[in-house]
Amino acid sequence: MSIAELLDGIRPGPWTVKAACGSGSGPDVDDFHARAQAVQHAVSRFCFTYCSARTECLESAIQREALHGVQRHGIYGGLTATGRHDLAVRRRKAAREAEGAGSAS
Ligand code: SF4
Repeated sequence: MSIAELLDGIRPGPWTVKAACGSGSGPDVDDFHARAQAVQHAVSRFCFTYCSARTECLESAIQREALHGVQRHGIYGGLTATGRHDLAVRRRKAAREAEGAGSAS
Protein backbone atom coordinates (compact mmCIF):
# COMPACT_ATOMS: atom_id res chain seq x y z
CA MET A 1 0.00 0.00 0.00
CA SER A 2 1.39 3.40 -0.94
CA ILE A 3 1.45 6.50 1.26
CA ALA A 4 -1.13 8.00 -1.05
CA GLU A 5 -3.53 5.11 -0.47
CA LEU A 6 -3.05 5.44 3.27
CA LEU A 7 -3.69 9.16 3.07
CA ASP A 8 -6.67 8.90 0.82
CA GLY A 9 -8.18 5.91 2.62
CA ILE A 10 -11.16 7.93 3.78
CA ARG A 11 -11.96 9.26 0.34
CA PRO A 12 -10.09 7.24 -2.33
CA GLY A 13 -9.31 9.20 -5.45
CA PRO A 14 -8.14 8.15 -8.91
CA TRP A 15 -4.94 10.16 -8.44
CA THR A 16 -3.50 7.51 -6.12
CA VAL A 17 -2.64 5.31 -9.12
CA LYS A 18 -0.12 7.98 -10.16
CA ALA A 19 1.55 8.01 -6.75
CA ALA A 20 5.29 7.51 -7.06
CA CYS A 21 5.36 6.13 -3.51
CA GLY A 22 3.25 3.23 -4.76
CA SER A 23 5.86 2.18 -7.28
CA GLY A 24 7.97 0.31 -4.74
CA SER A 25 11.12 2.06 -5.91
CA GLY A 26 10.98 5.10 -3.62
CA PRO A 27 11.72 5.66 0.04
CA ASP A 28 10.50 3.23 2.66
CA VAL A 29 7.00 3.98 4.02
CA ASP A 30 8.47 4.71 7.46
CA ASP A 31 10.69 7.41 5.93
CA PHE A 32 7.58 9.50 5.16
CA HIS A 33 7.18 9.92 8.92
CA ALA A 34 10.86 10.22 9.85
CA ARG A 35 11.96 12.94 12.26
CA ALA A 36 15.51 13.22 10.91
CA GLN A 37 15.76 16.26 8.65
CA ALA A 38 18.09 14.55 6.18
CA VAL A 39 15.52 11.80 5.63
CA GLN A 40 12.68 14.32 5.37
CA HIS A 41 14.62 16.25 2.72
CA ALA A 42 15.28 13.07 0.74
CA VAL A 43 11.58 12.09 0.83
CA SER A 44 10.50 15.59 -0.13
CA ARG A 45 12.94 15.62 -3.03
CA PHE A 46 11.58 12.24 -4.17
CA CYS A 47 7.99 13.59 -4.16
CA PHE A 48 8.89 16.75 -6.06
CA THR A 49 11.07 14.93 -8.58
CA TYR A 50 9.19 11.73 -9.33
CA CYS A 51 5.54 12.05 -8.37
CA SER A 52 2.97 13.18 -10.90
CA ALA A 53 0.28 13.05 -8.19
CA ARG A 54 2.10 15.52 -5.93
CA THR A 55 -0.44 18.34 -6.27
CA GLU A 56 -3.42 16.08 -5.59
CA CYS A 57 -1.62 14.47 -2.66
CA LEU A 58 -0.81 17.85 -1.14
CA GLU A 59 -4.34 19.20 -1.59
CA SER A 60 -5.85 16.02 -0.18
CA ALA A 61 -3.66 16.28 2.93
CA ILE A 62 -4.40 19.98 3.46
CA GLN A 63 -8.14 19.43 3.02
CA ARG A 64 -8.19 16.46 5.34
CA GLU A 65 -6.21 18.30 8.00
CA ALA A 66 -8.48 21.35 7.77
CA LEU A 67 -11.82 19.56 7.58
CA HIS A 68 -11.26 16.75 10.02
CA GLY A 69 -8.87 18.41 12.43
CA VAL A 70 -6.39 15.64 11.88
CA GLN A 71 -3.09 16.18 13.60
CA ARG A 72 -0.48 17.07 11.05
CA HIS A 73 2.32 14.58 10.64
CA GLY A 74 4.36 13.03 7.89
CA ILE A 75 5.32 14.23 4.44
CA TYR A 76 2.57 14.49 1.84
CA GLY A 77 2.83 16.27 -1.46
CA GLY A 78 6.48 16.84 -0.72
CA LEU A 79 5.81 19.08 2.28
CA THR A 80 6.37 18.36 5.93
CA ALA A 81 3.62 19.00 8.46
CA THR A 82 5.14 22.42 9.15
CA GLY A 83 5.34 23.19 5.45
CA ARG A 84 1.67 22.31 4.93
CA HIS A 85 0.64 24.36 7.96
CA ASP A 86 2.60 27.38 6.68
CA LEU A 87 1.05 27.01 3.23
CA ALA A 88 -2.46 26.81 4.69
CA VAL A 89 -1.81 29.95 6.78
CA ARG A 90 -0.46 31.84 3.74
CA ARG A 91 -3.51 30.81 1.69
CA ARG A 92 -5.96 31.96 4.40
CA LYS A 93 -4.11 35.28 4.69
CA ALA A 94 -4.17 35.78 0.91
CA ALA A 95 -7.89 34.96 0.81
CA ARG A 96 -8.61 37.49 3.59
CA GLU A 97 -6.57 40.17 1.78
CA ALA A 98 -8.35 39.44 -1.51
CA GLU A 99 -11.69 39.66 0.29
CA GLY A 100 -10.66 42.98 1.83
CA ALA A 101 -9.51 44.34 -1.53
CA GLY A 102 -12.77 43.27 -3.12
CA SER A 103 -14.93 44.98 -0.49
CA ALA A 104 -12.83 48.18 -0.60
CA SER A 105 -13.63 48.86 -4.26
S1 SF4 B 1 3.60 13.34 -3.31
FE1 SF4 B 1 4.85 11.85 -2.21
S2 SF4 B 1 3.49 11.00 -0.60
FE2 SF4 B 1 2.20 12.04 -2.13
S3 SF4 B 1 1.56 10.45 -3.56
FE3 SF4 B 1 3.43 11.40 -4.38
S4 SF4 B 1 5.16 10.18 -3.66
FE4 SF4 B 1 3.35 9.65 -2.42
